[in-house]
Amino acid sequence: MTTFKIAVFDGDGIGPEIMQPTVELLKHATANQKKFDLSFTSLPAGAAHYEQSGESLPAESVRAARDCDAILLSAMGLPHIRKPDGTEMVPQIDLRFELGLFAGVRPVFTFPRGPRVLSDERAATLDFVLVRESIEGLFAHKDEGVVVDNEYATETLRITREVSKKLFDFSFKLAQQRAKRLNRPGKLMCVDKANVFRSFWFFREIFNECAADYPDIEPSAMYVDAVAMKMVQSPWDFDVMVTENMFGDILSDLGAGLMGSLGLAPSADIGLDHAVFQPCHGSAPDIAGKGLANPSAMVLSAAMMLEYLGDNNQCPAAATCGENLRDAVMQATGMEKGKGRDIGGTAGTDDIASTIQSCLGA
Ligand code: ATP
Repeated sequence: MTTFKIAVFDGDGIGPEIMQPTVELLKHATANQKKFDLSFTSLPAGAAHYEQSGESLPAESVRAARDCDAILLSAMGLPHIRKPDGTEMVPQIDLRFELGLFAGVRPVFTFPRGPRVLSDERAATLDFVLVRESIEGLFAHKDEGVVVDNEYATETLRITREVSKKLFDFSFKLAQQRAKRLNRPGKLMCVDKANVFRSFWFFREIFNECAADYPDIEPSAMYVDAVAMKMVQSPWDFDVMVTENMFGDILSDLGAGLMGSLGLAPSADIGLDHAVFQPCHGSAPDIAGKGLANPSAMVLSAAMMLEYLGDNNQCPAAATCGENLRDAVMQATGMEKGKGRDIGGTAGTDDIASTIQSCLGA
């Protein structure tokens, strides 16, 4: 039997509250098979850990995480705990840089009997993916911005051929996988601002070069402002989109809005050797400790982790457990006891988790 080692970062705010039921649900979802098992290792990091120890992402935690097959991370950062320059702790972003996690995969989909944000009936079955470049762009020099004489401020945006090529190859392959799974022609759209910035024109040129290696995928490009409008007017037209880090940060929250809540939006940050699975939302300090957090985004991220482990280790049983867990969340979200306050229901964290568990049949 294969054992997959999972690093677990409980994080800050609602982080521990959504991680605990997620680990329990992973155990239930994988219990009735004999092909693999999961071993969990909890690792410290986050703003609260910084307050206690002076370190937000200890080197030993990074070392231990590197040694695992996948990393589960809830949410990190607290607005009242800041670095001396006034910015917030973002160890979850630092980890992407440490592990070279260049592809931030943000699926956007709607739930049967789940929240409806757009009234058009085509919005009932939304299904597209945003790939956010996650280690460069406007975040590449995030700790080096300067304010000069209190008169002006500058930040630097960095696009490299090396990372862009890896990002586009990953995205074209994702488009191929989706085309196969959904039995339809594959499409990939580059989202940029190539009409104004030289860096984005460079990004677009690399995209076009890569497109030549994937003749089965239809490439296209659109400016980010037009994409923001189309995500509201006709999001059902999208398939796979790939974009720069900051644009992806903003558009993925818009995507979570289309899903009905940040509490439902999962994500994965994937590199060549490591992968982190975490919800799109932050640590939600406004509801921390109240039992109100919706764990669904965290659980859906864990389901993506099982699918990743299955696909990368020739272990179809893990991918199947991932699909079952995702289906259980989809089903629970349409039920009264699985509907959190963030989507107009009354269920708390424990109710939602137990509804997902009953949908798993465990
Ligand atoms: P970050 O910048 O770290 O991504 P943020 O400032 O965007 O964080 P969040 O922590 O994501 O903010 O919270 C935004 C809003 O969404 C808050 O009102 C929060 O309570 C709500 N929220 C976030 N996650 C959840 C969740 N899992 N369940 C319910 N509500 C949530």
